[in-house]
This record gives sequence, structure tokens and C-alpha cells, in this order.
Amino acid sequence: MSHDPVIKNPLIEIPFNFRNSCWFCGEPNDKKINFPKKAYEANIVNHEPICLPSCKECAGIVQRGAFVSIYAYRDAIKQALIKKHQKVLSIGSNWTKQELAESELEGSAFEGFKRSAWPMFEMMQARINYKGWSVVINNDQLIEEQDNELFEFDGVSYICLDDAVTHAIKTFFLDEQLFTRVLSVLGKAKFSQTIRLCRLYPHLTSKNREAVFLEILESIGL
Ligand SMILES: [Zn+2]
Repeated sequence: MSHDPVIKNPLIEIPFNFRNSCWFCGEPNDKKINFPKKAYEANIVNHEPICLPSCKECAGIVQRGAFVSIYAYRDAIKQALIKKHQKVLSIGSNWTKQELAESELEGSAFEGFKRSAWPMFEMMQARINYKGWSVVINNDQLIEEQDNELFEFDGVSYICLDDAVTHAIKTFFLDEQLFTRVLSVLGKAKFSQTIRLCRLYPHLTSKNREAVFLEILESIGL
């Protein structure tokens, strides 16, 4: 496809049954994406860079970086999908299939809702629960899904790096994209330094973020 980025990372093996599926949610895929997106992020990722099939929505729904593995990135995508499609997912909490079918509420708008709501909910639920296949390149299983590694910062143990990142962004009013980009370059060990550097730039636009990112790299001699 013409809008695909130039693929540089090795493509994971795609079993025949999954040949048209997004690795993240199982929807038909229309892209091949690189993980990590940028070469400099490889610093923070604990496996080889890979390329894998993704649907358009999963490919674009997460803006930040600094994910330690494809599984951490997948979890962030699922969280973003849940947030975006909260209304559809709430159908399953508010109704059972039978209640919806037997409901006596009338009216053409509601009839339409009854017919479409449950299938919509089921489809979204399936996408959220979907687990992609093993990540294999040249017959080598590249990385298995691991339990999260605890990450300690400021005397607090976080379940994973992402929780610490989320906490830091909220607490120090950081620009999410800038912080995760700089962290990707400096690495987990320099978490506090990354916060100090990024605190100076709380409000960025997509226009000046790039300039600030380069300025920070320069200021630390990279
Ligand atoms: Zn998807």
C-alpha cells in the first residue's frame, strides 16, 4: 500500500489462518507496522525490532512511545480501544443478550439499536480479548509474553514501566509524547533525569515538539 512506511524491521511469521489479521485485535489488517516505530527507541525495547500486520485503527491509536516490548505496546493499544469504544462496550454491562431481545421498549430507533447493538458489542469485545499469535522470526520465537517486571521510581514499585510513565506524566504535568520519546533515548535507568529535562516544556504543539526534542538531545550531548 502506498501509505505504508518503508519497512525496515524483519516481518514476523504469519500463520496461514491469520494471514489477513491484525496482530493486536484480529480485524482485517491493512498495514505493516514497525515496532519500535523509530530506530532510537530500540534502546528501551527488550527484544529485536520487528514488523507486524496491524489494522489502521490499532496502528494509529497510541501516540506515545517508550514501550519495553510488543506486549506492553499491545496492552496500551487495548486500553486506548477500551477508552475510545466505551459506549459500545457498556452495552454488555447494561444489558444481557436476552434482555435486549425481550425488551418491550418500542420505536423504530430502538428497534435499530436492538438489532445492531449486541453484534457491535460482541465484535468490540472480541477485539479487546483477542490475543495475537507467537512472535516468530526465522523459526525463532523472539519473545514470549512475560510477567511484567516491577519498576521502581521514587521509592515506589510500579507493576510495570508504563504505570510509572503514566504516574510521572500526571504528577509532573509532562508532555506525554515528548517524555516517552526522550525516555526511549535515555533508557529506563535515566527516568528521573528524563522527568527533569521534560518538566521545562509542559505545553507543546506538534510543531515545536520536534524542535524541543532535538534541543534536549543536544543539551545532553547526544
Ligand atoms: Zn487492530
